[in-house]
Amino acid sequence: MSEIEVLLGESSAAAQKIPQFRSRPQQIEMARAVNDAIATDTGLIVEAGTGTGKTLAYLLPALASGKRVIVSTGTRHLQDQLLQREVPTALGLLGSNASVALLKGRANYVCPHRLDTSLRLGHEPVLQAELRRIQAWQARSRTGDLGEVLALEERSAVVPMVSSTADNCLGQRCSHFDSCPVYRARGEANEADLIIVNHHLLFADLALKEDTIGQVLPGVDVILVDECHQLSALLPAFLGTSLSSRQLLEAPRDAMRELRLLGDSDGLVLNAAARLEEAVNELTRALVGAAGGSAPDRLQQPAVRALVRRIDGELAELAAALERHRDRSLDLTRCCERMLRLSDRFATLSEPVEIAGQVQWFEVRERGFVLRVTPASFADEFRRWLDLAGATWIFASATVAVGGDFGFFQDELGLGDVRAVRFDSPFLYEEQAAMLVPDQLPLPSSDEHCERLVDYCLPLLRENRGRTFFLVTSYAAMAEVAHRLSSAPGIGSICVQGAMPRGELLAKFRTSERAVLVATYSFWEGVDVRGTDLRLLIIDKLPFLSPADPVLQSRERAYRQAGEDGFRRYALPRAAIALRQGFGRLIRDEQDEGLFVLGDLRVFSRDYGVVFLQSLPHMPVLRSCERAVSLLKARPAGAGATGVSEGDDAEGRGASEHSSGVGDSLRTSTRGETLG
Ligand code: SF4
Repeated sequence: MSEIEVLLGESSAAAQKIPQFRSRPQQIEMARAVNDAIATDTGLIVEAGTGTGKTLAYLLPALASGKRVIVSTGTRHLQDQLLQREVPTALGLLGSNASVALLKGRANYVCPHRLDTSLRLGHEPVLQAELRRIQAWQARSRTGDLGEVLALEERSAVVPMVSSTADNCLGQRCSHFDSCPVYRARGEANEADLIIVNHHLLFADLALKEDTIGQVLPGVDVILVDECHQLSALLPAFLGTSLSSRQLLEAPRDAMRELRLLGDSDGLVLNAAARLEEAVNELTRALVGAAGGSAPDRLQQPAVRALVRRIDGELAELAAALERHRDRSLDLTRCCERMLRLSDRFATLSEPVEIAGQVQWFEVRERGFVLRVTPASFADEFRRWLDLAGATWIFASATVAVGGDFGFFQDELGLGDVRAVRFDSPFLYEEQAAMLVPDQLPLPSSDEHCERLVDYCLPLLRENRGRTFFLVTSYAAMAEVAHRLSSAPGIGSICVQGAMPRGELLAKFRTSERAVLVATYSFWEGVDVRGTDLRLLIIDKLPFLSPADPVLQSRERAYRQAGEDGFRRYALPRAAIALRQGFGRLIRDEQDEGLFVLGDLRVFSRDYGVVFLQSLPHMPVLRSCERAVSLLKARPAGAGATGVSEGDDAEGRGASEHSSGVGDSLRTSTRGETLG
């Protein structure tokens, strides 16, 4: 028996130590593949379907190898989960005492210097009390991780007052350096055998935009990237050059803060900062209004150009006004240096440019804009990072292939020569799930689509007594669905994304009567509601990116220039992966069962629909609401799994013709190997 089977087999250590553990051949095979990749120092891409147990399958061989390992995952929440759950389990199974460190971005740690100066500045009573509360917590905290502060919202206005950025950190010249949580966490990571990071941290460092784990990287042997399907969407933020309006406004704010601490308020600085803020806000509005054409075209528009010139002027005036205070403190010296850097970068990025192989674009967000120039293709740069790191790279996800094909992921990231393997989910989707595609809905482009979909689903929501995720692709759709549901009789609690923090919203969903959660993309991933609390999943339409999305435009253009079909090479596979992620919320373990409603007829009426069908698990497909209601009625929650599969028979020949998988094709990878 191999060491992996001893750890994960039927009568393994895991079976004895982990409650409700089930030995799964897919998990054992995946652990073997990861083990081989590490032993032979060859890269690996792994797709392991939901329920495979992929985290243990990569952690066990990685920790058993005795090598230094970085595990990168999608969010800070998943980092915490790894540290608190999976890593201790893996160490326990191995009887290992490997050291483990958790490393987050600097905004997650308290900055004693900024907390100190914020307290000294004094604020209105509520804010000052909040700062004192953080000060009291800091004195007790071992990590300085702001996530430990009770009820401190991630987006609270107090967070930037007590945390640092790469721009405003004083580094080794800071009087708090020796006790600084940011540098203490980095020091611990330097010593650890296993370092848990997130993608933002890892790739910001590889792109040399930060230097959080730069010292650690040269000594690392294995880099495991979990949730790797997120990379193609994340990478544009790290490649090339960027500048945000937040950066432009923070520098003068920090300078004024420091002047106040020194007992000054220089009128020249104050006035120039106020004018800059006004011009930046106007530019944000102008960029929203500058519709049509490419980013360089829009930056060329007269109203935008006038504002760019105004901001250039205000930045120069601010820099000159601040220069007179440069030597008064270390913070002011840093502010002067920042102003000059920002001024240069703004001048470069706001100038419309057409450079071969580069794409200029901007994003307009709730509170400002980000100007960017990035490479048109990420593959070469990403490949260069991989080679520079000099480690064995392993990429894992539950949804990285499209219709069994890894081509999209491999091509986007330059990983065409990296071995790719798939391990199917152990779930019996044919028995645990069914898909309903309503046949009487208008196409999603119709103004009536949302209204008609909600009306269509009301009998299902009532029969299911809520317990539904209604996932949509835009904020406008979210608002409309929530509005229509709230006025429909027989519908219980409507839990709308943004109404409260995510954790509280999910708790409300679980504990409320007949609850329906209405949310956009941020709930399509990383949400795990098991059992009978969630039995109905509605997705409004196929999740294509907006045609105005600048990354989509640039990637499609790059493919077209290479003589390829940009839609099929980029937009389609990205949407198929997103749909797989959304669907993945419904069936979370072997006992779960549920109905998936896809409100988009294009999955059958367009030739590309087959790509989505082949990417979803094989399950019965229904076309009428009445059949779906009967199915839910026949299978009240907790009655077992076979009821859902009855829908296939009951639906007759039509249903089997529309089976979401195409025969055995889901089990055959065209560019990877299927081992599960
Ligand atoms: S070193 Fe940087 S992050 Fe640490 S306390 Fe000083 S300014 Fe803050």
